[in-house]
Amino acid sequence: MAIRPDTLSLIGNTPLVRLNGPSDATGCEILGKCEFMSPGGSVKDRAARAIVEDAEASGALQPGGTIVEGTAGNTGIGLALVAQAKGYRTIIVMTETQSREKMDTLRALGAELVLVPPTAYSNPAHYVHTSRRIAEETPNALWANQFDNLANRMAHIRGTAAEIWDQTEGRVDGFTCAVGTGGTLAGVGLGLKERSQNVTIALTDPYGASLYEYYACGELRAEGSSVAEGIGQSRITANLDGAPIDTQFRVSDTEGLEQVFGLLREGLCIGLSSGINVAGAVRLARMMGPGHRIVTILCDSGMRYLSTTYNPVWLAAKGLPVPDYLADRA
Ligand code: PMP
Repeated sequence: MAIRPDTLSLIGNTPLVRLNGPSDATGCEILGKCEFMSPGGSVKDRAARAIVEDAEASGALQPGGTIVEGTAGNTGIGLALVAQAKGYRTIIVMTETQSREKMDTLRALGAELVLVPPTAYSNPAHYVHTSRRIAEETPNALWANQFDNLANRMAHIRGTAAEIWDQTEGRVDGFTCAVGTGGTLAGVGLGLKERSQNVTIALTDPYGASLYEYYACGELRAEGSSVAEGIGQSRITANLDGAPIDTQFRVSDTEGLEQVFGLLREGLCIGLSSGINVAGAVRLARMMGPGHRIVTILCDSGMRYLSTTYNPVWLAAKGLPVPDYLADRA
């Protein structure tokens, strides 16, 4: 398709790239799906478009309506852009502790922001519950509900998984990624298993999340912590429920950062959740042995994290290793 008919059709159909360092280190072929090339800059554009189009089809969202969601990050950016393209209003609820850059980005894209104090999920003032209430109180509004709205993972069953299968001509041995909502892992997992039961699906969990223990021994239990944004889940969301997980790894931020800065030397600038995904793919490659082809997700660009992952002062303050080329600038 040389000329795309409209901007929304820029979402999806992202390329797969061979990650040379991780591939050569393991004797496997480790491929990254370049979701950072999407118009909103992340994998969440897929879920945003699918949630909106599903609601249009069911009548839950009518012309001139309002989309409401509790998120500070990539889903909000995706929803704001899809809403612009389709003529809806967007209200994003986020905690007042989120970075200035995120607030500025969402405002620049035309979203209206509602700021709430950070609280536990059990508190009715939590940003997720606040967003649901605002949607209930706003006429002609849709609560996107990315965690439990299955249109999210359907976008990955129909889109991401089908693309990976076609791009590899069905030669894919393993897939792994981390979980925020679980839409990507469950959707790609289900979509690939539909085509072949021989594909190994692995969860890559950061520290501070509870899913590694859940899939390893049936108990939701967290250990340690992570600074990675967009991933780290402590419950079985509707999107994750029924995901065909064969094996699981727990990956540290340090391991993820090694991949982030290693891949920079291949000319790729990715966020930490992508680095953690690649570290998980390396673990899966080592488990499966040389000669296998493993796919993972490059969720967003590192340029979204200049003040954190790529900032030597911030890294040092978090007790994380600072790469040499950045240490000079601290
Ligand atoms: N990485 C980043 C940077 C994200 O924003 C998200 C979405 N929260 C994910 C990974 C995880 O994707 P999913 O919600 O499909 O599990």
